[in-house]
Amino acid sequence: MVDAHFAKNTEFAMPASSLYKSHENSATNQHEYQDSWIASGKLGSRDAVLVFRTNILNPKTRKSILESALAHEPTNNWTKNEEVQAKAPNTVISSSSSPANGKAPSIYSTQDRIYMSVAKSLTCSQAKKANNSFSSSDVSITSDGDDITLYNEKKPRLQPKNRASSIVKIQVEVNKESGYDSVVVSQSNNTSEEDQEISSEEDNECGVNMPAHRLGITYKFIQTETKLLRKIFNVHGLTEIQDECNFNLLWTGVHLKLDTLRNLAVYQRVNHFPRSYELTRKDRLYKNIERMQHLRGMKYFDIVPQSFILPLESRDLLFAHNKHRGPWIVKPAASSRGRGIFIVNSPDQIPQDEQVLVSKYIVDPLCIDGHKCDLRVYVLVTSFDPLIIYLYEEGIVRLATVRYDRNADNLWNPCMHLCNYSINKYHSDYIRSSDAQDEDVGHKWTLSALLRHLKLQGCDTNLLMLNIEDLIIKAVLACAQTVISACRMFVPNVSNCFELYGFDILIDNTLKPWLLEVNLSPSMGVDSPLDTKVKACLITDLLTCVGIPAYGPEIRSYYDCKNARHRSPSCQRRVETNESSSTLRCSKSKKKPAAMIPLTQEEQRILRSARQQYSRRGGFVRIFPTDDTMQRYGNFLDPASGIPISTPNVQSQSFQTLVTQHNYNQMLHSNLFGANSRSIVDDNREENRINQYERALETNSEIPFLKKQMVEKCEEEGRRLRKQMLKKIGSGSALTHFQARQTFSMYLDAVLRRLTQEPKDSHEKIILKFLNKFGGAVKPPVLFRNNQNIKVVSKARSAMVAKLLGDFLELYKRDTEAYIDSFDHFGMIPTSAYSLFLMHAQESDLEAVLTLHTNITGLMPFLYNRCGLSVPAAPPIPSGLHGFLRALPAMLSSSGVARDVSKYDGYLKSTEKNSESVTDTTARIKVHRDSKKTS
Ligand code: ADP
Repeated sequence: MVDAHFAKNTEFAMPASSLYKSHENSATNQHEYQDSWIASGKLGSRDAVLVFRTNILNPKTRKSILESALAHEPTNNWTKNEEVQAKAPNTVISSSSSPANGKAPSIYSTQDRIYMSVAKSLTCSQAKKANNSFSSSDVSITSDGDDITLYNEKKPRLQPKNRASSIVKIQVEVNKESGYDSVVVSQSNNTSEEDQEISSEEDNECGVNMPAHRLGITYKFIQTETKLLRKIFNVHGLTEIQDECNFNLLWTGVHLKLDTLRNLAVYQRVNHFPRSYELTRKDRLYKNIERMQHLRGMKYFDIVPQSFILPLESRDLLFAHNKHRGPWIVKPAASSRGRGIFIVNSPDQIPQDEQVLVSKYIVDPLCIDGHKCDLRVYVLVTSFDPLIIYLYEEGIVRLATVRYDRNADNLWNPCMHLCNYSINKYHSDYIRSSDAQDEDVGHKWTLSALLRHLKLQGCDTNLLMLNIEDLIIKAVLACAQTVISACRMFVPNVSNCFELYGFDILIDNTLKPWLLEVNLSPSMGVDSPLDTKVKACLITDLLTCVGIPAYGPEIRSYYDCKNARHRSPSCQRRVETNESSSTLRCSKSKKKPAAMIPLTQEEQRILRSARQQYSRRGGFVRIFPTDDTMQRYGNFLDPASGIPISTPNVQSQSFQTLVTQHNYNQMLHSNLFGANSRSIVDDNREENRINQYERALETNSEIPFLKKQMVEKCEEEGRRLRKQMLKKIGSGSALTHFQARQTFSMYLDAVLRRLTQEPKDSHEKIILKFLNKFGGAVKPPVLFRNNQNIKVVSKARSAMVAKLLGDFLELYKRDTEAYIDSFDHFGMIPTSAYSLFLMHAQESDLEAVLTLHTNITGLMPFLYNRCGLSVPAAPPIPSGLHGFLRALPAMLSSSGVARDVSKYDGYLKSTEKNSESVTDTTARIKVHRDSKKTS
């Protein structure tokens, strides 16, 4: 936690940042340009944070920003833009100062609010004053501070341009970012020049003029989908590093190591809280909510479908089934993207050997034009104590491709019952909009478009959104207690962690929302211009709202040293030890209203930070706290500590003994909304929030759709290299494990692309059989494990097979990375030559190489794993088109002679074993050839 005394004098005690110094002699305009990318204080002050905007993702806008930065004339540019917009037809200018008053929906861009406040700060002296008024360098900030309205200033939104509802049918896009084959077979899109992916050099060129670059602000990724994120970071001047410790922002797709958390400095930000899995693991979430149902009453926590964890609760499931018959939806406990999900009519159809979550299937979902849909909404938690929850104004509605039909015969059909994009995208009827403005076209809509659609039909969308807010708050309350105690144990500073959760919500036909799951790292992958728009706005708004401190290296190293001095093994958060006004507030709470007791320094800091954060919220709508949250949820909080309590036996004692008593939730609420609060305008009222959800998300400049790069393959070159490879294999060279696995996965990629374009029944059956035996975690749904059921031929089945194969390939490719060759092995094909072959190889080339290699060596290294799994001897592979595919099931047949393959894997482990293994392999080739000769 920041030492309050030090923080107060930061301006004077801290060394001037390098950026600040470098500016001392430069033009004022340059100062202003840099300041325009900083919020909540002047550059060099303790509260200053970076500002992120989507407009610099657009090459044109970026160019003009760059030019103005170089010319040191930023003001002209901003003003020009402003003028253009003011003159634009259909533009409505509001006189209100509240951003979310909803009077003129579709007009005000959340992105633009910050953009405009910046523009104004450059042109208007009044605004400059306002900016300074909440500068953190203002050490005289009072306990109840000022609400900052600068960032809430409004500007006209550009009206959507006239648009032709161009619809593009999804074509093939099967390769994953993680894969080494980055070829996209075809993508139909009317792309403008702007849409082309801009090189990272250009991103960096833009970045070097940003304050983040000059301040040396860095980010680190761990196991995450990075394309859009990386682009946003780079254009804003952040630098990617590999270092485990010296990052400013750590963005991971997985949970954080406790050691990383323990050592965080005050300026570092990480995108997860410890023990978030209480919310994001399906089984934990359901258990936590179930506990709240028992503790607080079913009527308050009836937010998830009735669920059971099997095999542990099999009897309870049977009992429930006998009471109210199925269907039931079965989900692997820790999976996502529709993987392994199937629906059954009765519990006896559920295999008993796997741990699964079984939920009551909601048979009457809300349908749009007859198609089932569900919602993905984005929830940002910036603090658990006090609890601060935001809901992003825009979300995504996912529609199933096949029209909904309750008939039990259709339960097998994932493209009717599951709305996941990752499944439906493989269906040949899946439609996606090709224009970011088309929000109600095809199988992916925006939340605001759905609300407007429902409103037109006379539905009470206000109630729907209030119920969704309620569901989110309750889900967080149900899991908060554990997260808070983990934060106290492992997170040294109150603002180190933030988290963006993806809430999946199903709405039934009575408009009741049901929580299906909470995603730990909601996908930031983009598949269409609409997706890009929503996610780019979401990420930039999130980064600005969370606040990446704009500290220079000197300040950072100051904190690093300080951190090292204070580090204790338990790493419990430092707390005030003297009797603070917090303690006073608790003991005297009955006598004096909370708001009248002076705040401690820590409370002042929390309050100031909450206000500043709110002023930077962009498109985020704060749903906790609001003026009525204490009234609604106060009962679920411990009266003394304000902590959400979800365990009856522990109650608040554990918290009271752990730290000095405080009640931040109460403090925040009474200072933000109490009688004595000095809020200028309460723009967070219910009606404003609802209006914000309904209005369309508009951006000031178009955000280019980041497409996957295409690699041109040359057929002729492919044929030439294939001949070369076949010759090498024929003369005794073998494929390494890595090469064999690469070839196999590229081959299956090609099969997948082909099957999505022109489904072929016999090939789908082969793939299903293959996955049944070799799929590992990717198993076909139970219904399809029995060959009898494979008969149902349809586009939906093709999509399901494609999805399964896609999932399998993703895991297979990830595993393959463990086999990478660091040097060429004797007797094996040289890496460089083989890579060249793979670059140009088509399905038939890959098939030819795999076939010959298997026939000559009798080995199938693409099926071996490093644990020494026993696999049968390779069957003879027939030559000719698709011969390899047809032989695939036989390769896994258990009738063959099992062979211990661990010894063939030796060359990966040590040089000594290498030579043994190679000798063994060459000997085998020789024996095989000799036996061929004799026959
Ligand atoms: P995943 O993490 O694999 O996406 P979800 O829980 O989000 O799993 O479920 C996937 C899909 O299944 C959802 O899009 C939804 O359409 C459907 N679904 C899940 N649970 C239910 C349910 N209880 N009733 C009806 N449909 C459901």
